[in-house]
Amino acid sequence: MEVIVHKYGGTSVGTPEKIKNVARRVKKVRDDGYEVVVIVSAMGHTTDELIDLMHKVTDSPDPREYDMLVSTGEQVSASLLAMALQNMGCPAVSLTGGQAGVVTEDIYKKARIKEVKLDRLKKELKAGKVVVITGFQGVDSKGDIITIGRGGSDTSAVAIAAALKAQVCDIYTDVDGVYTTDPRIVPEARKLKYISYEEMLEMASLGAQVLHPRSVECASIYNMVIHLRSSLKNDVGTYIMSPERILEECGKMEKKEAVRGIALDENIAKVGILKVPDKPGTAAKLFGALAAEKINVDMIVQSVHSSGTAADMAFTVDRPELKKAVEVTQKVAKELQAESVVSDSDVSKVSLVGIGMVSQPGTASRMFATLSEEKINIQMITTSEIKISCVVKAEQGKRAVQALHKAFGLDKVA
Ligand code: ADP
Ligand code: ASP
Ligand code: MG
Repeated sequence: MEVIVHKYGGTSVGTPEKIKNVARRVKKVRDDGYEVVVIVSAMGHTTDELIDLMHKVTDSPDPREYDMLVSTGEQVSASLLAMALQNMGCPAVSLTGGQAGVVTEDIYKKARIKEVKLDRLKKELKAGKVVVITGFQGVDSKGDIITIGRGGSDTSAVAIAAALKAQVCDIYTDVDGVYTTDPRIVPEARKLKYISYEEMLEMASLGAQVLHPRSVECASIYNMVIHLRSSLKNDVGTYIMSPERILEECGKMEKKEAVRGIALDENIAKVGILKVPDKPGTAAKLFGALAAEKINVDMIVQSVHSSGTAADMAFTVDRPELKKAVEVTQKVAKELQAESVVSDSDVSKVSLVGIGMVSQPGTASRMFATLSEEKINIQMITTSEIKISCVVKAEQGKRAVQALHKAFGLDKVA
């Protein structure tokens, strides 16, 4: 029997009514003769609420206890969905990540999934049950509950779909596809029929929260097609797959615009270390210390003072890691005899993404000109073959996305 894997995000299971709606959809698939595995996120903003609750108790939570706490949200939605299904006469069982065989690395809060052991899952499917699994979590080698990073239920779903060798992983959410940019910021944004793993991975990594970046990475490794679609409608959404498969499906690649999409990351912060003595080894020391604390550093810029004896360095980190990043940087600054450490969480990152960008010169200059016309100051810039990112003041981020979306004609039908 073919197995179908569905994933429902927080908004899609946000209320008892919505859970019943999901149950009806899932039951229909099972009634049509398929085995069904469902991965769920926590209801609505439950995870945020659990984190707020945590901050009322402590400023420096123990990572193990953090995972114990935030993983509970998914248990609520999974068990409720299983009960809603049972209530409709559809046999169902809910499993935690650990019970479902999701094994992760031994790292709290942002572990990778190492493997999915299918024994229990297969047994429940064989018994004719719909299996509802808590997303966002697994267990490590000690048997501790581990979470896999905010938004990680998408990755749970793709990993489970890949282990089950499903044809496609259906990810149901509150938008009906991947758009040229967040439709909440630009209502004229255009829905994409297809997007390649590479472009989607870049969009997701650069802040388009519609998919967890590692879900796209995992899908590309296993060549798993992701169908991102609405949990309220039955319409076709967006297919995320390899360029070869896109070619097969639509006969031709979609017109290769230089820029395919725009992402906004409002979850970053900037750290600066000023007047660091300009000698070999300083960057290695600073970024080595940050890496040792498992702090992900994204953009890095260094400027040399005219005297040539000292340099300023600035870098960005995820906003929740700012406090720790500043502490580590201050420690290193002292050892290096740098002048001072500054930080700013009032920043956002705006990025253009597109595989075609590499072959079309002028994209960067047009981006900078557009921002300048909007009187938006660029604080940092990084580029790669398929993206250009600028850090701007947080309050200007959305306006930057709107202006760029228009300037690059992304609202026009391709
Ligand atoms: P879920 O709870 O289902 O995982 P998320 O809130 O994580 O849903 O992701 C869906 C949201 O992603 C949408 O409501 C939309 O505002 C946002 N989003 C950001 N960028 C894009 C994009 N390029 N296309 C579609 N949605 C986007
Ligand atoms: N509930 C988790 C979060 O809010 C995981 C997810 O939604 O994918 O981050
Ligand atoms: Mg999500």
